[in-house]
This record gives sequence, structure tokens and C-alpha cells, in this order.
Amino acid sequence: MTTGIITTNTFSNHNTGLGHPERADRVSVIIDNLKKFEKKLIWRKPVAFDKKFLKITHSNKYVEIIENSFPKKGFSYLDGDTVVSPGSKEATFDAVGSIISAIDGVINKNFKNAFCAVRPPGHHSEQEKAMGFCIFNNVAVGANYLISKYKYKKIAIIDFDVHHGNGTQDIFYDNEKVLYISTHQYPYYPGSGSDKEKGKYNNILNIPLPAGTTSEEYLNAYEFVLKKLKEFKPQFILFSAGFDAHKDDPLAQFQLKSKDFYDLTKRTLSLAKLYCDGKSVSILEGGYDLIALQESTEMHVSALLEFN
Ligand SMILES: [Zn+2]
Repeated sequence: MTTGIITTNTFSNHNTGLGHPERADRVSVIIDNLKKFEKKLIWRKPVAFDKKFLKITHSNKYVEIIENSFPKKGFSYLDGDTVVSPGSKEATFDAVGSIISAIDGVINKNFKNAFCAVRPPGHHSEQEKAMGFCIFNNVAVGANYLISKYKYKKIAIIDFDVHHGNGTQDIFYDNEKVLYISTHQYPYYPGSGSDKEKGKYNNILNIPLPAGTTSEEYLNAYEFVLKKLKEFKPQFILFSAGFDAHKDDPLAQFQLKSKDFYDLTKRTLSLAKLYCDGKSVSILEGGYDLIALQESTEMHVSALLEFN
């Protein structure tokens, strides 16, 4: 078995306007670079999915508002920095479809694990709110899909994006089937993510770290992620894979190097192997320096490939 890459070209029509950091080039550079592994990877497109799975995470009303928000031309703003254009609809639904395809592929043993190279990202999106470039919470839809369709009872979401995934935390705050773990710069956007936010069932672990956090400091703190995973013994691991903790990223102030994303992925997958036969799916969140993003995703996917 190998690693699946779930992607499609609709992301390129999600136009966020000139100068917006969450832009189409982010995903095209990742895909161009991953082509060097072409023969080792299985490339798949997102499937069309039943909207009932989207509506477990988001309210009917919110889904309807979003579906009607895509303009016929020009731009429309869902919040100060979340922009949609005519092509955003397909991209947004394909981002959700990608995690569903990835999960089906892992469970049906088409591949061992998978990375979804898609946009828009999702972890800031709450049940009824778009924010921070995020429209639907892709990873949350994935976790709820595992619970609803496959009857899983223990899903871990590991969010290593430099920003706190307020949306994911909000959606699962009182859901004992989902463990949400986030490492992030704090205090920082979006404001949430203190270590006092623990979830109703102690199912949230926030690891706030200061601006300037180095590779060594980060990987030391990551031991707490692994400790919590060992206690929880997940049946499936989802990664909210943001690469904006990289030292070259313009949107935050961590100092990680590209190789650190290999190390953290490898350490996590060693546990995935013990508890859930390595079953894991990763989906792109942030990462705004194109070269750092290209290198870091290569490192992340290399670690996924090693665990086949
Ligand atoms: Zn981020």
C-alpha cells in the first residue's frame, strides 16, 4: 500500500483577489513538487458527497447561506479576510469532498494514509461562521463522517497549524468521541487556544507557545501531543496540516524548519501504527511562503510514505 494524494484543479478558481495570502499558487506549488514522488503516490480526485455529512458539522441554515454567497462575478466577503468568487463554490465543496474521499480510500485499503492538497482551508470555520480564510471546516466534517458512516468512537485531530483551530475546538468542545490537540502561537489570532480550554470531557488539549518558538522548543512541547494520544488510543488520526509555523512564513513568528514537519509526522505515525494500524488522513490548512510550503509538505508526505 502507499499514500494517497487527493486533489483536483478546482482550487485554482477560488480567487481571493490580488495580494491575498491564501492564494491558488499555494496548492499548485505543492502539487508540482509532489510529482517527483509520482510513481509512489496514488492520485485521486475528491468524490461528490451526500450533503447530509456536511450538515452534521454545520447547520442547514449555514450551508444554505454559504451556497447562496458565491457571487456571479467579482468578490463577496464572508468576513474581513474570507473572500469568495464565482469559482469558490466548486473549490469549497471539493475541499470537503477530498477528506471524505481520503477517509474512504484509507478504510477501503486503496492506500494506507493520505494527504489532501486542497483549499480553502477549514480549521477556523465554526458551526455557523466562516472566518480566517475558512468556509467549511473540512477536518471536522471528516471526523463526523468517521463517526456517522463508519461508527468510529475515538478520533484524534492533530492541528499543527501555527494558528489555533477555534472552529474545530468549538465544533467538538462537548464531543467525547473526538480528541482535538492543537499547538499554536499564543497569544495570537484568532484569540482562543489557552490551555484552560479543555473541552467538556477533557477532550481538548491546547499547547500554546510563544512567538519565536524554535524547532527544539516545539518538538519538546510536541511530546505532550504524543502523551495525550497514548492515553486516548485513537482509532483514526486526522491532521489539520498547516505549515505556517515555518520560520519563513509571513503570517506568524515560529521558527520551525522544513524537516521538523517530517519529525512531528513520523513521531505521530509511530503511535498511529500502534493504535490504529497507521490509519491517518491529513488535510492542508495554512502555510503562506511558497518555498517553505513546498519543502514542508514534501517532508510531511515523505513521513506518510514511510509508514506504508
Ligand atoms: Zn494558520
